[in-house]
Amino acid sequence: MSPIDLRNHLAGRHLLSSEIPFPPELLQHQDIQKEKGVTKKGSSYQCTRCLNSKRHLFASFDCAKCGRQCTYCRSCIMMGRVSECETLYSWIGESLVPPSSAGMNWSGILSPLQEKASLKIKEAIEQHTELLVWAVCGAGKTEILFEGIEAALQSGRRVCLATPRTDVVLELLPRFKQAFPNADPIALYGGSEDRFSSSSLILSTTHQLFRFKQTFDCLIIDEVDAFPFSADETLQKAVGKARKQESTLIYLSATPSGKMRKNKNLPHIKIPGRYHGHPLPVPRFQWIGSWKGSLLKQKLPSPFQKWVEDHLQIQKQAFVFVPNIPVLNQVTSALQKLNASIEGVHSEDPDRKEKVQRFREGTTPIIVTTTILERGVTVPDTEVAVFGAEEEIFTESALVQIAGRVGRHRDYPAGDVVFFHYGKTHAMISARRHIQEMNREAGL
Ligand SMILES: [Zn+2]
Ligand SMILES: [Zn+2]
Repeated sequence: MSPIDLRNHLAGRHLLSSEIPFPPELLQHQDIQKEKGVTKKGSSYQCTRCLNSKRHLFASFDCAKCGRQCTYCRSCIMMGRVSECETLYSWIGESLVPPSSAGMNWSGILSPLQEKASLKIKEAIEQHTELLVWAVCGAGKTEILFEGIEAALQSGRRVCLATPRTDVVLELLPRFKQAFPNADPIALYGGSEDRFSSSSLILSTTHQLFRFKQTFDCLIIDEVDAFPFSADETLQKAVGKARKQESTLIYLSATPSGKMRKNKNLPHIKIPGRYHGHPLPVPRFQWIGSWKGSLLKQKLPSPFQKWVEDHLQIQKQAFVFVPNIPVLNQVTSALQKLNASIEGVHSEDPDRKEKVQRFREGTTPIIVTTTILERGVTVPDTEVAVFGAEEEIFTESALVQIAGRVGRHRDYPAGDVVFFHYGKTHAMISARRHIQEMNREAGL
């Protein structure tokens, strides 16, 4: 355990003593900055790690360490408790030289739309600017990052791609390992192995950004509109903290918020078409009357039931999105009378992973789900129904993401997307218009 090891562990990061596996006397090193974990700030507090300063996101406890009522931050508690008597450590000495890691091993071909975006990204990386990449579901957004990332690694920069969900980090890791074998990319998420210093290419969950401080030359935030990033101001502050002062910030989204689209200081590039060149499936609307009344009578509205029966008959897999868990249970049990292999899955389901896996493998013909599967899960030849599409949870962006599950594979580029409803909403109409507009812009 030498100061070099300590520097390698700490440089670029913002850690609690429990996250630094070195003898405490080494933490007295002159190049280590120590900051109080939580400080009093007016009538509230501020957390040094996540920069949260909302009074209701702090609480006190009887602290055995300092023997007082000690205030801690609730906002970043999932990363270990930061309290008034805790110290956060960072390295202010000579910084770490990133390991040499250039050399891309990727020979795929970009579509003309992808190519254009790829150039823009490379430019933003070279010039340390910000960029919003507005890419439709299925645009092939991972590949458009490759050239820019390669340019960054070549010039010795540190790159981080952060995404809200662990399953996306795990899905991306093998693709990045293959494309950047010399960079030896690493994945950081709750419970992952901690070996940050060994690579210049990090794939991480957005929450892990709290543990960095002025670290990245290039920070790419995936699914920027998705929970928790959009809902969580502190996470946005963490992004500001994790990047270097002079750095590139790239946001990726299929459904950026209106605020982001209209931000004049944030240039954007749009990829309105899919990588395979086929149009996005346009949702159709089907009125089903008072479906809540039908469910009370343990019945399914007949147009919906017929849609499911047709899919069972031709053996075409489908997602059925429902607004909440009680409706999920009612719809699933009614559908299981048609076919016992139909399954329902929601966010608190302990068998979630297994159920999604069975659907991927094709053993489950129809999967009923809450909005947890609106992103990420892609099964090649599948169609989509939204049941109760007028419910509030189905926002424009949720509906666009849901429709985006269909037709992503080159071999199955089309498919049915139907919104079963009891009254059209603004969100449904906007989602359909959004998709039509993208197809038009893509010249399809
Ligand atoms: Zn915090
Ligand atoms: Zn304490």
